[in-house]
Amino acid sequence: MKTLGLIGGMSWESTATYYRLLNEGVKERCGSLHSARILLYSVNFAEVEEMQAQGRWEDAAQMLGDIAVRLQTAGADYIMICTNTMHKVAPAVEARLSVPLLHIGDATGERVVADNIRTVGLLGTRFTMEHDFYRGRLQGKYGLTVLVPEKDDRTIVDRVIFQELCRGVISEGSRRHYRRIVGELAEKGAQAVILGCTEISLLLSPDNSRVLLYDTTALHASQGVAALLSA
Ligand code: GLU
Repeated sequence: MKTLGLIGGMSWESTATYYRLLNEGVKERCGSLHSARILLYSVNFAEVEEMQAQGRWEDAAQMLGDIAVRLQTAGADYIMICTNTMHKVAPAVEARLSVPLLHIGDATGERVVADNIRTVGLLGTRFTMEHDFYRGRLQGKYGLTVLVPEKDDRTIVDRVIFQELCRGVISEGSRRHYRRIVGELAEKGAQAVILGCTEISLLLSPDNSRVLLYDTTALHASQGVAALLSA
C-alpha cells in the first residue's frame, strides 16, 4: 500500500470525514484489518482563514508548499490538500513536489463527465465560486458549463461555511437556504450541483436530494483510496 500525505485542518470538521472515508474505502477494498496509510499535517485554520480574507495567497502557497514538502520527505507517495478553496494555491504547491498532488477538481470533473453531465451548479466559498482556479479547471479541462448562485446567495453560502460548518454548527435554517439555492440552480439549467466545499456534505446529503449532488469530499477521498492501492 502507498502512503497518502494529507494537508488537513481546513477545517478539521471535514478532515475528520476524509480520515473516516479513506479508512472505510481501504477496508471495503481490502477487508479484514486493513486501513489507510496516512500522514496528516493538520493546520491551525484561523491562520489560513486570515490569509484568505486578507488576500495573502502567496503566504498561503508558501505555507502549504512547506507542509507538502515535509509530508513528501516523511514518506508520502501522494499529497492531498483537503479543501477545495486552498486548491487556489495548488499549482505553487505542486511545483515544489516530486510526488503527485491529487487535485480535488480532477476527482470531481472526471466523475461529472463520466456521468455525461454538461452543466453544473457550484457551491463553495466565495473564493471557489468567484475566482477562476476551480471554475476555470472545470470549464477548461472538462468542458463543463458552471453556474453559481446570485451574489446575495453566494454571500449566504459563504457565511454558512465559515460561520457555521467550519465550527461544527449544523442549522436547519441554513439547510433550507442551501436546498432553495440548489433548487434555483437546477431551475436555471444545472443538471447537477457540485458541493465544492468539503464541509457542505455535513449539511446536505446527496442521498435525499431531488437534484443530483456531487460531494467533493467523497470524490476526493475515493481518488485517495485508488492512489493508496495503486501498483
Ligand atoms: N473546506 C472548505 C473548502 O472545501 C472551506 C475552508 C477553506 O477555506 O479552506 O473549500
